[in-house]
This record gives sequence, C-alpha cells and structure tokens, in this order.
Amino acid sequence: MRNPVYLDGFATMPIAPEAQHLMLEVWRQPSNAGSPHRLGERAAMYVADARLSVADLIGATSSEIFFTSGATEANNIAILGVARWALAGGSARRRIIVSSVEHKAVLAPAETLRSQGFEVFHAPVDGNGVVDCDMLADLATNEVLMISVMLANNETGALQPIDQVAAIARGVGALVHCDAAQAAGKVAIDVLDLDVDYLSLSAHKLYGPGGVGAIYIAANAPRPQPLIFGGGQQGSLRPGTEPVALIAGFGAAAKLALSSLASDAALALELSHRFRRQFWAAELEAELTTGNRQVLPGAMSIYVPGIDAEELIMSSSAEIALSTGSACNSGQVVPSHVLRAMGFSQEKARSVFRIMLNRYISDDDVTYAADKIAQTARLLKDRTGRAHQW
Ligand code: PLP
Repeated sequence: MRNPVYLDGFATMPIAPEAQHLMLEVWRQPSNAGSPHRLGERAAMYVADARLSVADLIGATSSEIFFTSGATEANNIAILGVARWALAGGSARRRIIVSSVEHKAVLAPAETLRSQGFEVFHAPVDGNGVVDCDMLADLATNEVLMISVMLANNETGALQPIDQVAAIARGVGALVHCDAAQAAGKVAIDVLDLDVDYLSLSAHKLYGPGGVGAIYIAANAPRPQPLIFGGGQQGSLRPGTEPVALIAGFGAAAKLALSSLASDAALALELSHRFRRQFWAAELEAELTTGNRQVLPGAMSIYVPGIDAEELIMSSSAEIALSTGSACNSGQVVPSHVLRAMGFSQEKARSVFRIMLNRYISDDDVTYAADKIAQTARLLKDRTGRAHQW
C-alpha cells in the first residue's frame, strides 16, 4: 500500500533530510549554548550558524533574529510586546490594525489588548482574500500603534501587498508587523524592501522541525517588552535554554530554502499546473477561491459547490492528506474566518479544501491525488444531489 500523498503543507511541511541529519548530529552531544566549556561552545556555534542562515533568508542581520517556539510566540511577542512597550511610556498610540484574514496567533493576542485600553480594527479583504488597501488606509490614523498583515495566507496562499501596507503605516507613523510563517522559504523576502519592523517565522512551514521559529526585530524598531522572564538568554527578550538541535534544524532548512528558492518555486508551479489540469479534466464544477490573484507557489484553495469538504477529506484520508481551514472545536466544525471574511456564506465555506504542495512530491503522486480527489468529490456530489431530490 502506498503512503498517503501529502498535500497538507499549509499545516506543516515534511522535514528536509538535511535538517534532520544536522539535528541528529547536534543531539549526539549535550548541548547548552550557555555552558562555559567546549561542548557549550559547540552548541553556541550551531545557534550562531542557524541565526545567520535565518537572517540571510530574509535579508536581515543576525542580531535582529530572536529564536522562539514558533510563529505563534513570535506573533505574540510582536503584538503584546510592542503594546507593553507603548503602555510603559513608549507611545501614546492605542490603536492596532490587523487584517481580517490573519492567523489566530495574531487575532487572539490583539483581542486581549482591548481590556488594556487598546482599540483593535480589522482591515477587510476582497472576495479573493487580498487586503483592501483603500479600506486599510481609511482606518490608518496617527493614533495607530501598529499594523499587522501577513505576507501570505495560511488557508488560501494569497499574497498580501505588504509594501503598500507598510507605505500606509509609514504615512501615519505606525509600526509594521508581518506574519511571514507561510511565505518564508517559498517566496523571496527582503525585510528592508518590505519595510517592516517585525516579522514572524516558523521552521516547520519551511521544511524544518516543529517547535521552533523566530521573530525579526529591525535594529531601529522599538524593542518589544519580553513576555516571559528567566535566565537572560537572547538579550532577555526571549529567555530560556535554546533548543540547540531544533534551532540548528531550522537553520539548515532556511539555508536550503534560500539556495533552492527558484527551483522549489518552479517545481511547485509545474506541479500545481499538473494538479489543476488533471483535476479540472474531470469536469467537476470547481473554482479557485483566490481567482487570478497571486498565491504562494504550490498553494490552491478549491471550492467545489455541493460537497462537504470535511467528508471529502475523511473519505480520501487513507490515500491523501488534505485539509480545510476550518477549526474543529469540541466536535463542531467552525467555518473558516478567512473564507467568511472573503464573503463566503457558512454553507459555501464548507465546500472548500486547501492544498499546499511540497518539493518531495512526484508528478505521479500529483496526478494520482488529483484523480482521487476528483472521483471522491464526484461521488459526494452525486450523493448530495440525490439527497436533495428526495
Ligand atoms: N501564522 C501563520 C500564518 C501560520 O500558518 C501558522 C501555523 O499554522 C502560525 C502563524 C503558527 O505557527 P507555529 O505553528 O510555528 O506556532
């Protein structure tokens, strides 16, 4: 029996063998980067190498990279840490703007700030999931402390106009945070070109290990206040013994992502075309939720009217790993806030599934998966159609 074809790269990417090998090498010896002996030096070297590779991936310098447990923590540091800096006297501004399609790891910390005297505004997106910059500009006043917009969405892959977002923010003197968890390693990133103050990264979205990420803090940006306190590592901004093997794996994955950016993107585009050709050849009524907007290479968010996407995923899970963007809370599927923000009704949102291809998938896997998904979707659709006739 073949392994399921893995199309759920939005959730997590398979780990790169290069990252895996380096992690095993690190784990062979005790590794605390703060220890005052040869093994400590060895550990510190792995951390320094990784910091440089992560910095290189986004055009930053090493001293601007702080390792975290993932993008969730990086986003929390950016939103809450900057708010704490403002409350401590850094700024009198008390408004935060986030896009309505941000990951919960941005939306939720922003919400908590309401009880601390902040106002939180959600910038709308258009029907294809791209932030509406005119509406954003209307919300931007000189009371805005920070604007947070992701580089690419984790359900649709839609790329966001961060350069325009940053220009709007600069126009009113606001800080800019960008959650680049999905985009990093898939599209070229230069933090200076993007003109952002803070940027969040996650290793497991770019073929590195889970449980590690980073926040970029521009050298000239206000330092967020720490959210946790301890031994003073990483300039006390994010204390705690560094998970050296995870950080080294992140570094290896970032280095590989940078050197294979062009070939990865070319392969992902070719595989997406192949998938689409094969899937649409089945003459199933279906459309991309992002229309003709630019998306991450390898990303597809597909609406098939009349199917229940959760059922599609369950029915094909032995052969294909797929997902929707919906969250399952205590057995109840909550429709995706991203699709709702794009104007999808609850019912329509139930008929959308997402795909993110990866560099280890073969042509055959893609063809097989497209056929299988189309066949299963047709079966479900026929069944629903019959059910409606009864
Ligand atoms: N931000 C985005 C856009 C994501 O897609 C994710 C992961 O799903 C996160 C943040 C959270 O990342 P992590 O799993 O590293 O905490």
